[in-house]
Amino acid sequence: MKYISTRGAAPELSFEEAMLTGLARDGGLYVPAEIPQVSADEIAALSGLSYEETAFRIMRPFVGDSFDDDAFRAIIARAYAGFDHAARAPLVQLDQNHFLLELFHGPTLAFKDFAMQLIGQLFQAALARRGERVTIVGATSGDTGSAAIEAFKGLSNVDVFILFPHGRVSEVQRRQMTTPADSNVHALAVDGDFDDCQAALKDMFNDFEFRDGVRLAGVNSINWARVLAQVVYYFSAAVSLGAPHRKVSFTVPTGNFGDIFAGYIAKRMGLPIDRLVVATNQNDILHRCLSGQGYHKGPTHPSISPSMDIQVSSNFERVLYDAYGRDGGAVTQLMDELGSGGFDVSQGALEFLREQFDSGRASEEETLSTIGATLRTSTELLCPHSAVGVKVANDRRDPAVPMITLATAHPAKFPAAVEQASGIHPPLPPRMSDLFERPERVSRIANDLAAMKEFIKGHIAK
Ligand SMILES: *Cc1c(COP(=O)(O)O)cnc(C)c1O
Repeated sequence: MKYISTRGAAPELSFEEAMLTGLARDGGLYVPAEIPQVSADEIAALSGLSYEETAFRIMRPFVGDSFDDDAFRAIIARAYAGFDHAARAPLVQLDQNHFLLELFHGPTLAFKDFAMQLIGQLFQAALARRGERVTIVGATSGDTGSAAIEAFKGLSNVDVFILFPHGRVSEVQRRQMTTPADSNVHALAVDGDFDDCQAALKDMFNDFEFRDGVRLAGVNSINWARVLAQVVYYFSAAVSLGAPHRKVSFTVPTGNFGDIFAGYIAKRMGLPIDRLVVATNQNDILHRCLSGQGYHKGPTHPSISPSMDIQVSSNFERVLYDAYGRDGGAVTQLMDELGSGGFDVSQGALEFLREQFDSGRASEEETLSTIGATLRTSTELLCPHSAVGVKVANDRRDPAVPMITLATAHPAKFPAAVEQASGIHPPLPPRMSDLFERPERVSRIANDLAAMKEFIKGHIAK
């Protein structure tokens, strides 16, 4: 299995190399050269299997010879051992033919744990075998950073630096990043917004001297291994509801387009998915784009679903690559235009996108009222991100087709908004109940690339 860049000018890599590299050296994102196909019989055979065995069968063809079967099975087992639900990704019913896929039973209470716990184990296995050490730098709107710190803390062959927008993440998210005591993990509070953090990260990857000097590796949602890990639960959920014998649809609360892109890959592999619905909050650039208004950046408006407060949806580049017939030159040009504000999507590409994706948005008011209404009609207490999904799913769904909305975080991760909407203060799970007593360790840093690079160089283990 070979991986190629969406900009067409970086070397082809193996799974392991693409995972350790993150962003391609031409600025593009790695995608598999071909999408492995899963037959209806193979999908039917997933019925009744454990999450781990499903994960092994779905991901195996993408991994090539980077890991042998026994090693890969052991990695998957370790990745999901820290989840506190035996099903890992349980499905609960909200309404007639509307289901919620609970992706928040991992160590940091958000779906990011599915990918990050796996990638931590994959990095550890690969680096130990190679006798190498890397520096991981990540940008986060809150959940990626806590998931990465949790997944990599204490590993001897990595240093981790997480850039997060100061004052724009929830207190639970911040404390999950700042309370681990391990000396190889560092939380950096940047005086800027998430897009500033993400832009700084991209600049670090494009500075080859810095990149090679610190052996920079990325675990942001652009890392192909993360997308791959998320493909698994589309299969496990669809199979629970009768795939391959009947179609299901998914609604996905979306920011960086990583989670929904995993659903697109599942569909391309052969999973019978009827609709893939992109759900955005008031930062609705993806919804506007899919509605034919082009992709034009505006200011980011902080919302009660902060993990989706994004203007530059980095994984969107991957689907644009397919929409433009896998033309790396065309993608390079679009991304150049994005650098100066935005781009229009060609008619052909828009048709492709609209065949694959439906979309909708939820305002702040609608998000809050959906939390209240869902609690009354189903007893399920939603986090604000999941509520954006449920609101859009209710608007867009075909009652004849089962709809699965992805619940991306536990309500206790966003207690202020949940309490405002429902009157209930969602408690943290018992294993985290002392989070507010643990000492914090955080470095405040200017929104300045040079300062960030200096900090990183000064804090990596020599
Ligand atoms: C990251 C995140 C999202 C958005 O996921 P993308 O893959 O970036 O689209 C939605 N909800 C929560 C809780 C998240 O942490």
